[in-house]
Amino acid sequence: MRTVLAPDRPPDRRAAFGAPCPACRLPVRAGRLVCTSCGCLIPVEAAAGRFRRSVRILAAVAAGRLLALRGEALVWIMALVPLLVGPPLAAAALAVMRHRRDARAGPFPTWLLVVAGANIVLSLAMWSVLSVEILQQIQAGWQGLRDLLIPSQRVPVFRYA
Ligand SMILES: [Zn+2]
Repeated sequence: MRTVLAPDRPPDRRAAFGAPCPACRLPVRAGRLVCTSCGCLIPVEAAAGRFRRSVRILAAVAAGRLLALRGEALVWIMALVPLLVGPPLAAAALAVMRHRRDARAGPFPTWLLVVAGANIVLSLAMWSVLSVEILQQIQAGWQGLRDLLIPSQRVPVFRYA
C-alpha cells in the first residue's frame, strides 16, 4: 500500500504564532518576548494580567463576604477600622440603636463601645502626632521652594573699594 503524501503547501501561518499579546491582543510570533505591535514585555504583561484578575476575584469574594455579614460581625469590623473616626463612631451608634430597638436581642454592647472608643482615641492621638509632622514637612518644603525661586540677598564675593 502506498501512502499519499500531502502536496507541498505553504506553511500554516497561524502555527508560527503563539498566544496573542496580553496587552493589545494582536497575534505575536511564538517565542517572542516583546510585542512588535505595542512594544510591551509579554511575560511581564501576562503576569500583570494574571495579578489583576486575581485581585479582581479576591475583591469580589471579599465584597460578597462583607455583604453577607450581618449585624454583629459588620459592626465589630467597623469598630476596628484604624485611623478613621467615622466607622468606629458609626459602629457604636449602630450597636446602641440596635440595643435600644430590641433589648432582647442581646446584652448591652459594652465591649464594642470600649473597643470603638479606644480606637477613636488612638486614631485621634495618631492624627495629632502626624499632623505636626506633616505641617513641619510642608513648612520645610515651602522654605526650600522659596529659597529656590526667590534668591535671598547674596553675600558679595568681591568688594570694590
Ligand atoms: Zn501588544
